[in-house]
Amino acid sequence: MKEKIKRLFPYIAFFLALFLTIGGIVSYFFIDRYEREKMLYLQSRVKTADVQVESLKLAYDTIAKTMFDSVINTPHVVELIGRAARGSEKEQDLARCELYAYLARLYGSMESHDVRQLHFHLPGSVSFLRFHRPEKFGDSLQGVRPSIDSVNRLRRPVNGFEEGRIFNGFRHVFPLFERGEFIGTVELSYSFDAVRRLAQQLTDAKYDLILDRNVIDTTVFADERSNYFPSALSPGYLNDKKVNGGHHSLFPQPLMDRLNALYRPDFERVEGDGKHHIFPLILEGTGYLLLLNPLESFDKKRVGYILVYQKDTQIVKLKNNLISVLVFASLLIGSAAAFITYFIYRLRKQHTLLVKNANTDKLTQIANRAHLIRQIDYLVKHARRGGYPLSVIFFDIDHFKQINDANGHRMGDQALIDLSTLMKNRLRESDIVGRWGGEEFVVILPHTNLIQAADLAEKLRVMIEQYPFAHGKMSCSFGVAELRNEDTDESLINRADAMLYEAKENGRNQVRPDLR
Ligand code: GH3
Ligand code: MG
Ligand code: MG
Repeated sequence: MKEKIKRLFPYIAFFLALFLTIGGIVSYFFIDRYEREKMLYLQSRVKTADVQVESLKLAYDTIAKTMFDSVINTPHVVELIGRAARGSEKEQDLARCELYAYLARLYGSMESHDVRQLHFHLPGSVSFLRFHRPEKFGDSLQGVRPSIDSVNRLRRPVNGFEEGRIFNGFRHVFPLFERGEFIGTVELSYSFDAVRRLAQQLTDAKYDLILDRNVIDTTVFADERSNYFPSALSPGYLNDKKVNGGHHSLFPQPLMDRLNALYRPDFERVEGDGKHHIFPLILEGTGYLLLLNPLESFDKKRVGYILVYQKDTQIVKLKNNLISVLVFASLLIGSAAAFITYFIYRLRKQHTLLVKNANTDKLTQIANRAHLIRQIDYLVKHARRGGYPLSVIFFDIDHFKQINDANGHRMGDQALIDLSTLMKNRLRESDIVGRWGGEEFVVILPHTNLIQAADLAEKLRVMIEQYPFAHGKMSCSFGVAELRNEDTDESLINRADAMLYEAKENGRNQVRPDLR
């Protein structure tokens, strides 16, 4: 078994090399195509999600502008603010009460559309009337609300996301003029929650807002900071409790926790680079996407991200397609590689068999004369180069003709086979025994001098003499010669043959070394 594995090892290695090389190239091609397809798909999803968020913001921007143009920037409101801007504290109180009464119904309707703040200010960013806290006024917002400062300075509307002392949201601040004179500002704001609610009515996605911790720490009233808790995506970002509340049927909290834990490394890799990102994820066979939509303040500072969590079937489909293609390709390549390997294996085996047949004597399955001649040539050269001794034994069965005659040719053949087997078993791996022809045999003994070779021949002689062959007993005569400097391959064999002849002459069943 071990032998077999050792013999098959080159083929197994060849198969693996072939399979891995072709498989590697093909896989690279398919994986590359998959990655490109996935990237194109994700890019399209980024675009879609971005357009969604932008159009929702735009919808609210339009509502704010329309309200300002149609209800707020009207002669009566302007007249009230103008009076307050120029008037005494008392006149301001009167104007405030009148303004509150006049717009209370409008504010009620705005609230139901998630417009969270309607806030009038006098020049210099002084709070005049907060509809969400009408009793709180007169405080300066300078430095706290850069968007209002900006309108005071530039006298034109600004809009964008802004964190406040209490609320954050998408703010619209408009300047108010009476007959060309700047009399104050008004702010209409809606929260991210409004955007989120509308978005979630339109899509299956879950929307979240996370804000940079620094922005919260520097802006929000200390006692309002409990409204924020660290984002599961990164400790550097905070969630707003008021806007991230709400249960989403497709994204229950345990799932959100798992997703956020998995997305965390991706998020931390890209956070703060101000770019859109999309992270695909497959969790228990379901595909998810997380889109990072960077959020900028009205003055173009990065303040956080709008997160859009979505379920997605396409990325699972793409991945499954890739797996099917890879499995199919592996099977195909595996089969082809196995076929090629087997083909080579058969070819090599046939070749080995051919070589073996060319070197082997058909009857006895030991080396034939041609192989013996090649081996002598090779081993003589080797012995000369290495400077070690080499000897040759030439032996011949005694009176084999008689054995044939007495027992039949078949029995004679069997005796030749048995004798060969006996020799193979007795000799060392490095010794070579072959059939020279008829009933004559040659043994080549590398690293063996004349004495040792004669000694071995004697042992072989005794072994044969004692062996019970199928037809009975038989013996052999042996000639032995050691390689000499002046020898050729032929002269070496001839000397051994001559010694064999002497053994025959001298009465057979004996060993004759060439001592001359
Ligand atoms: P010696 O002791 O002088 O060697 O006598 P011998 O009879 O062995 O020598 P001889 O050369 O007279 O005869 C050799 C015989 O070997 C003749 C031949 O029939 C037989 N022989 C040669 N090859 C084969 C063979 O392949 N099979 C069989 N059965 N006999 C063979
Ligand atoms: Mg003979
Ligand atoms: Mg003979």
